[in-house]
Amino acid sequence: MSQRPIVVIAGGGFGGLEAAKALRRADVDVVVLDRENHHCFQPLLYQVATAALSPADVAWPIRSILRHQANATVLMAEVTGVDTRAKRVLTDKGPIAYDHLVLATGSTHSYFGHDEWAENAPGLKRIEDATHIRRRILLAFEQAEATSDEAERRRLLNFVIVGGGPTGVEMAGAIAEIARLTLVRDFRNIDPRKARVVLLEAGPRLLPALPEDLSDYAARALCRMDVDVLTGQAVTACDPGGVTAGGRRIEAATVIWAAGVVASPVARWLDVAADRAGRVEVLGDLSVPGCADVYVIGDAARVVDARGTLVPGLAPAAKQMGTYVGRAIAARVAGEAPPEPFRYRDYGMFATIGRRSAAAVFGGVHLKGLVGWLTWCVAHVYFLIGMRNRFVVAFNWLWDYVTLQRGARLITDVPAPAAPAVAEPERKSVAAR
Ligand SMILES: Cc1cc2nc3c(=O)[nH]c(=O)nc-3n(C[C@H](O)[C@H](O)[C@H](O)COP(=O)(O)OP(=O)(O)OC[C@H]3O[C@@H](n4cnc5c(N)ncnc54)[C@H](O)[C@@H]3O)c2cc1C
Repeated sequence: MSQRPIVVIAGGGFGGLEAAKALRRADVDVVVLDRENHHCFQPLLYQVATAALSPADVAWPIRSILRHQANATVLMAEVTGVDTRAKRVLTDKGPIAYDHLVLATGSTHSYFGHDEWAENAPGLKRIEDATHIRRRILLAFEQAEATSDEAERRRLLNFVIVGGGPTGVEMAGAIAEIARLTLVRDFRNIDPRKARVVLLEAGPRLLPALPEDLSDYAARALCRMDVDVLTGQAVTACDPGGVTAGGRRIEAATVIWAAGVVASPVARWLDVAADRAGRVEVLGDLSVPGCADVYVIGDAARVVDARGTLVPGLAPAAKQMGTYVGRAIAARVAGEAPPEPFRYRDYGMFATIGRRSAAAVFGGVHLKGLVGWLTWCVAHVYFLIGMRNRFVVAFNWLWDYVTLQRGARLITDVPAPAAPAVAEPERKSVAAR
């Protein structure tokens, strides 16, 4: 082992990876910990959940991303705590000593105190969530085709998405397109176009983080796709039969949760205060008050930057924080002056609505329709990792656009049927042979 300072980075997501990369020329040993072996491009997860892309198109092994960085070691380990006095990260593979620690473990979906809803209304965060949701959507159509019970068929063809943020809008548009375009000719007993897609939002409008004209545009575009957009409807019950929202019962076999996030338990690990979303309030240099060698970045941090802006929970924000912290640690190790307090550069925000429409603010300009969608495509292909993925994703989109098909309509991970029990006389005859 070298005597260089050790920088442990917990989380190989958007923030953690940028922090590691920003340290590539620093005289330190970098250890990146992640409970997964891959980095996931979450903005395109909904396309895996709706069968447009395959998991490997939106995820890359962290080990391979950092393979050319000689000072970086990757360990697949789950962080369970931090001992700030002994300067050790606690993991399921044992404790790991650090000189500087970057916590970038992101967030997960929040059920607002109703974790029991998770089983009936899965959220979208990991690759497994996306393939699970894909299975539920595709199985609903298969089961509707097979049943002769009219009420059950209607329930199977009802899809409810809870949460009118970008993920909810994108999921609703994509499921509507699967039903109205992709599957139209594939079934004999059902008409997939009769599927009902309902988007529930507790607040007064969709896409609350975008300007109002874009919210209105998104609602109108979804209505044109026959999506029922119900705003001001908070979910009060969720069970295997469906949901209750705003006092109204909706029978549905598929409910997808896209409402709200909560930070990973970084505040608990550090034994510091958290805001309502579980985020740790950090200082201007993104370090934790009272722990100058511990930084929290990305979705796990509540950051008010040097201009007084509350930094949003977005991938570019996490990446900027990662780069900033990597440079700040490199400067400290080299005995140089620390950088100016963190400043967020806001490049914009997007939400796609189906396969040729989007609502976006980009560089301060409001974009809608095809122009917004093309800008979204270029931005997302640009930010993907690796030429292969850029090419595959761009080609898939073009192909789907022209053919109306979705290339990844696979129902996977269905439990294998139990092996048939061997009848007693047969077993005897096998033994006799
Ligand atoms: C479905 C979805 C769609 C989104 N769409 C957009 C979008 O269009 N545009 C946009 O800008 N942002 C989008 N976001 C938000 C964006 O993905 C996040 O803001 C960003 O990922 C935050 O980066 P991060 O580094 O903080 O966390 P993440 O990128 O989530 O990385 C956290 C990493 O930590 C690991 N980890 C977590 N807990 C542990 C643990 N205990 N031990 C070890 N490892 C752990 C995880 O495996 C993960 O690799 C979306 C998010 C989701 C879920």
